[in-house]
Amino acid sequence: MPGHPDWFLLNPRGLHWSEVQAQDIVLVDADGKVLAGNHAVEPTALFIHAAVHRVAGKACVLHTHMPYATALTLTAARALDTTLSQNAMRFHGRTAVDAHYNGLALDIGEGERIARAMQDADVVFLGTHGVIVCGQQVAHAFDDMYYLERACMAQVLAHSTGRRLLPVAPELAARVAVQTLGERMQSDLFFESLRRLLR
Ligand SMILES: [Zn+2]
Repeated sequence: MPGHPDWFLLNPRGLHWSEVQAQDIVLVDADGKVLAGNHAVEPTALFIHAAVHRVAGKACVLHTHMPYATALTLTAARALDTTLSQNAMRFHGRTAVDAHYNGLALDIGEGERIARAMQDADVVFLGTHGVIVCGQQVAHAFDDMYYLERACMAQVLAHSTGRRLLPVAPELAARVAVQTLGERMQSDLFFESLRRLLR
């Protein structure tokens, strides 16, 4: 973040998503002290985001409980199978699992355990909880988050048919991941289009 490597931007507490304007975003330091902004921040968001920024060194950290990705964290595998759909393959070799659900992340220890589980991954599935998607740019992290949910949805729907699923070879999934990540213009254009819609 501008100004200091341990400072980051966080959504304000108590506002509806549709209300949030640029000036509502809060600047906080690694200890959770609000440095600039007109709103408080939600504590579990603070502990999760602060730890992942600091321990895992990620520039953009998105955390959601989006339905299909969260549904997969409730399964024994805890995560997406990255050898099923094409959308899933872009995440091959980029995911990690933190299966140690321990209640709400109300202290820095919870956030640090999640961050350590990430290792070099861009996506971490939090057992019984949700997901974190990271990137060095907001546009890329957001695009990954969008496609992650679509991939999880496809897996849940396919599973719901009761038919046997047919994964591809891991080598092919790895090739698709390289192909997708080698061309991120689509992510940039998608994010720009969303910004136009906001205006
Ligand atoms: Zn959460």
